[in-house]
Amino acid sequence: MKKIFALFLVMILGGLYSVAAEQTYNIWELNKMGIVANSSMTETQYRHAIEILKKVHEKTAQNMKTGSGPFYAAVIDSEGNIIAGESNSVVKDNCSCYHAEVNAIRAAQKKLGTYDLAPYNLSIYVNAEPCIMCVGALMWSGIKTVYYSVPSKTVEKITGFDEGFKPCWLREFKKRGITVYGNIIPESGEAVLQQYVNMGKTIYKPSR
Ligand SMILES: [Zn+2]
Repeated sequence: MKKIFALFLVMILGGLYSVAAEQTYNIWELNKMGIVANSSMTETQYRHAIEILKKVHEKTAQNMKTGSGPFYAAVIDSEGNIIAGESNSVVKDNCSCYHAEVNAIRAAQKKLGTYDLAPYNLSIYVNAEPCIMCVGALMWSGIKTVYYSVPSKTVEKITGFDEGFKPCWLREFKKRGITVYGNIIPESGEAVLQQYVNMGKTIYKPSR
């Protein structure tokens, strides 16, 4: 009887453990899944990132029809509230600095009334890997986590934009406590970038 009771207890505890323990992917496992990362990620976090990045791609496609560049960034808090969502407005505003990430950081900081977003534990979701300028802007912003979809190399290949040089930026971000996950659902993002090119929109860059 004691044995049956012990077995029953083990089964219950085992069941509870499997409900409580969530799948967490380490960097190596994420790399095997095709994801670029400088930290581990839970299954929930991964599913969540896919859902948000799908919406980011939709917003990118929607806004580029009205003159925005083919990039969109959303700043979101840990409860899922959107603090800011902005498109690239380089052509619209005649400013080479107005990339989606810069515009979203500016809007979030203005809304929260601070130049330091760190106490808010915010994440940014972008349809493409941040360029050299945006890597810098993100580093000074206080954003804690970066999720991006299409990698810079692919952006350059599809569009002809120059994304700049960013030696070991994931490692440098990790040193500063900033988590990065990239190459999440890149195919959806690539299609939007291709659409921008097919529409004959401006590939803005300085003349050399
Ligand atoms: Zn940029």
